[in-house]
Amino acid sequence: MNINYQCPHCNGYLNVNDYILFSVRTADHKVGLISLHNELGNYAVQKHPEFEYKEGEQLDFYCPICHSELASEVHKKLAKIIMIDEENSEFEILFSRVAGEKSTYKIVGETMKIFGDDSAEYLDFLNLSMNF
Ligand SMILES: [Zn+2]
Repeated sequence: MNINYQCPHCNGYLNVNDYILFSVRTADHKVGLISLHNELGNYAVQKHPEFEYKEGEQLDFYCPICHSELASEVHKKLAKIIMIDEENSEFEILFSRVAGEKSTYKIVGETMKIFGDDSAEYLDFLNLSMNF
């Protein structure tokens, strides 16, 4: 069984081959599709060359199936999707909505794995929010 990524709202599968698909809106309201690599910590992005945004720009992420916003309630600069691993375990995946920022968090219960050079950015905030 492969690793799957799902929308937390409609449970639709977001991954196709090695990429996870998103509908995205830029700060100046341009819309487009992007795909992010399914390997956590790999920040390869695929998109149409005409769909442009700047490094550091905050993007809104939407499910391409049900169009719900994939926002995290933990921090407004993080997006959230669900990951189901090979053993059918479910994780919350949080990642930065800021273009070019490499911060990804894989969370189950009180356990968190972190990925990316910029992951320290939200770490204190996440640690605090996990201790309800
Ligand atoms: Zn959805």
